[in-house]
Amino acid sequence: MQKIAIYPGSFDPVTNGHLDIVKRGLDIFDRIIVAILTNPGKAFLFTLEERLDMLHQSLQEIPNVEIDTFDGLLMDYAAQRNACGILRGLRAMSDFEYEFQMALMNRRLNREIQTVFLMTGLKWIYTSSSIIKQAAQFGGNIEGMVPPLVEEKLKQRYAQNTTAK
Ligand code: ADP
Repeated sequence: MQKIAIYPGSFDPVTNGHLDIVKRGLDIFDRIIVAILTNPGKAFLFTLEERLDMLHQSLQEIPNVEIDTFDGLLMDYAAQRNACGILRGLRAMSDFEYEFQMALMNRRLNREIQTVFLMTGLKWIYTSSSIIKQAAQFGGNIEGMVPPLVEEKLKQRYAQNTTAK
């Protein structure tokens, strides 16, 4: 049986840190479904369509990766997609508490699906979508932290100075 993992997140936008987790996750899982959570409540810089498009373009050369969206409970979605794992990345200690709580809650909801954490690559330890957005907003150099197409999109977005609804 294929071992499928869900890699959930908001990917607003996708960074090289995310891509590193997907590539390394494929050493463990046969297939990874990168899934954007569409529950309302958070303000995003990019629309869902834009985030999907950036993920598609950034991951198009990597086999055994699918991109999808979901709403509701992650564990319901994971069961529906026949996943055996949830893939998450850990950067600093600051990620740990939230991830720990979420993994425990998810385990309570479904004990058959394991949350698997990969340590960030050292290169990506300070790479987060929000820090990158802050730097890009004020014209900071974000080269090498995001795929070139994302860098371009960020530049355009801040030139227009708009937020996704
Ligand atoms: P969320 O909105 O759930 O934080 P993100 O899209 O920001 O979603 O992140 C999705 C997952 O990717 C999380 O597990 C996060 O810890 C991980 N991640 C984000 N950036 C990095 C990075 N630079 N290195 C490793 N993991 C990362």
